[in-house]
Amino acid sequence: MNQGMAENDEPILPVGERPKGPNLERLRQNLDDYMVEKGLRTTEQRRIIVSTFFDTTDHLTIDELLERVRAIDHRIGYATVYRTMRMLSEGGIANELHFGDGLTRYELADESSHHDHLICENCGKITEFEEPLIEELQERIARQYGFHLLHHKHELYGLCAECVKSPDSKRRMQR
Ligand SMILES: [Zn+2]
Ligand SMILES: [Zn+2]
Repeated sequence: MNQGMAENDEPILPVGERPKGPNLERLRQNLDDYMVEKGLRTTEQRRIIVSTFFDTTDHLTIDELLERVRAIDHRIGYATVYRTMRMLSEGGIANELHFGDGLTRYELADESSHHDHLICENCGKITEFEEPLIEELQERIARQYGFHLLHHKHELYGLCAECVKSPDSKRRMQR
């Protein structure tokens, strides 16, 4: 009768469930601490950029973030956005992501909301996933090699569910 059940009673987690969001409060505190430590000033423009970035769950490029902050203050320039994101990245508040299209994307860095990415090479859609089995497996691999694991990233490239369905799914968009 127990056919198909796991050996123990632990439920098997569904694959592909969206991970929980980052701890914004802690990241804000980390940012404050970092700026104090480095003697960095908070300017109004910087404040707008940071709060816009904290408000998004997307994986934004500088240009996409620039567009959003300019809707709030049109005087904000590319260089200010770029420098602010570099600062967040150096302070461990933002992760820089490179998905092979030459663009740098940013997302909030939070150890407690670790996730990996599925990247659609047709439409560019980025989906986040978290899979305990993968996390566990890579720790086992690291142990086998006496390797001390600090962090990792998995990027799976292909076609998203919608693009697979489209008739010209085999033809990739030229970038
Ligand atoms: Zn797609
Ligand atoms: Zn992500």
